[in-house]
Amino acid sequence: MLDFVTDKVQDETRQGEAFAPVTGDPNQYNKRFYIESYGCQMNFSDSEIVASILQNEGFGATRNYEDADLVLINTCSIREKAEQTIRKRLTEFRKMKLARPGMLVGVLGCMAERLKSKLLEEEKLVDMVVGPDAYRSLPGLITEAEGGQKAVNVLLSRDETYADISPVRLDSNGVTAFVSIMRGCNNMCTFCVVPFTRGRERSRDAGSILKECKDLFDQGFREVILLGQNVDSYYYIGNGQQSTTHPITFANLLEKVALISPQLRVRFSTSHPKDITDEVLYTIAKYENIAKYIHLPVQSGSSRILQLMNRTYTREWYMAKVDRIREIIPDCGISSDIISGFCTETEKDHKETLQIMEYSGYDMSYMFFYSERPGTLAERRYEDDVPLIVKKKRLQEVVDLQGRLSFASNKKDIGKKFKVLIEGDSKRSNKDWMGRNSQNKVIVFPKNELELKKGDYVEVKVTNCTQATLLGTPCPPKGGT
Ligand code: SAM
Ligand code: SF4
Repeated sequence: MLDFVTDKVQDETRQGEAFAPVTGDPNQYNKRFYIESYGCQMNFSDSEIVASILQNEGFGATRNYEDADLVLINTCSIREKAEQTIRKRLTEFRKMKLARPGMLVGVLGCMAERLKSKLLEEEKLVDMVVGPDAYRSLPGLITEAEGGQKAVNVLLSRDETYADISPVRLDSNGVTAFVSIMRGCNNMCTFCVVPFTRGRERSRDAGSILKECKDLFDQGFREVILLGQNVDSYYYIGNGQQSTTHPITFANLLEKVALISPQLRVRFSTSHPKDITDEVLYTIAKYENIAKYIHLPVQSGSSRILQLMNRTYTREWYMAKVDRIREIIPDCGISSDIISGFCTETEKDHKETLQIMEYSGYDMSYMFFYSERPGTLAERRYEDDVPLIVKKKRLQEVVDLQGRLSFASNKKDIGKKFKVLIEGDSKRSNKDWMGRNSQNKVIVFPKNELELKKGDYVEVKVTNCTQATLLGTPCPPKGGT
């Protein structure tokens, strides 16, 4: 599969994942909801907010849509293929609804605004359409839909951040949790639909973020991933009633979260290269528990293409940013997003992308071929003129190079020791643990006789590797056997 690469931010293995019932939930429910999520981690995080709103309305979760009174699908519009997958799924749900007419089907998230009349009126695929800023209105919309009306709310908001809603953790490993710190995006990259589907950028109340992170730590979580489309432009100045004396920048926020406990590892995603500051880099370097890992999407290595994409940096500027990261945080992992075959891209532009990948030495990348999205600036301004076969060929070269870079980066780690946070059993064997080091690399190692558990930190010596995984042996705790 070429246009999707598995990762923690957009994990193909999680696409379409259904919500697992909350273990140990003492409440009794007489209505059931089923939710499936697609797209980026922001969407998965939003599904956790929706789950919380529905639980307050007396809906319990089910993993089987056959048992559900309410079937929801949290959608993604980022590439055409994502939309096609979701349409197929909706058609399956419609068939089931014919057998169970009382069941309601709702579309949430990024496809809502663009396809609302098509899905509701023309194709009659769904009963409810709810945009990413309208989840608080879900209870009212469910009532409307139960009464036989078509229920829609796709209004985007300038201030909704769901700050006060405590998300219900979905399919969590109990170790790592996503915490949304902002919503929307103001950047207007010409290829991207996000500013249209998710609206203007707004930062969430810093106090509510810190409370959520502290609560997670108290519940036993040991890693938080602060989420936003552009986390480095986080800027919180209070909400009028409770204004803070000093505005809080992303560097300030990172520091405050890191200070909750040295045992809480802090990650974040995504950084726009134009916004990540030295202050953020020095904060990462200062605190051992802030992960030494930056996702810094380049998109293209050609200054001409970057300008057409409205990324607001050049190739040289990006390379200088990578140098700066390596200077301030020498052991930092760096990953990227890359789009192959953007409008007018030539072989020379493509070669420049391969070169910047080599220069940056990415540990990992999320790689896509360009997919024109309706309503974006690129769709209105440029011709999508690179043939699909060329896009795919270039993407394959990008994927192959990234494979070599990842392998080389992993080989360099052989013989080194890393502090690893254990996330659970390895996929292949319950005799092995799987965890991540600070640089976000997956490490698999035998449990041996050491008494370790999920959520523990352990030092692991790397003894071997594959392209995707480090393999190691655990070092006994100091003073232990
Ligand atoms: N805000 C983040 C950023 O700026 O890097 C990520 C946004 S988007 C959800 C994730 C990635 O999808 C982008 O970085 C880009 O590589 C890719 N993407 C966005 N629009 C695309 C399109 N029209 N075709 C192909 N890939 C696209
Ligand atoms: Fe899309 Fe660019 Fe905003 Fe990322 S920064 S969400 S790519 S517009």
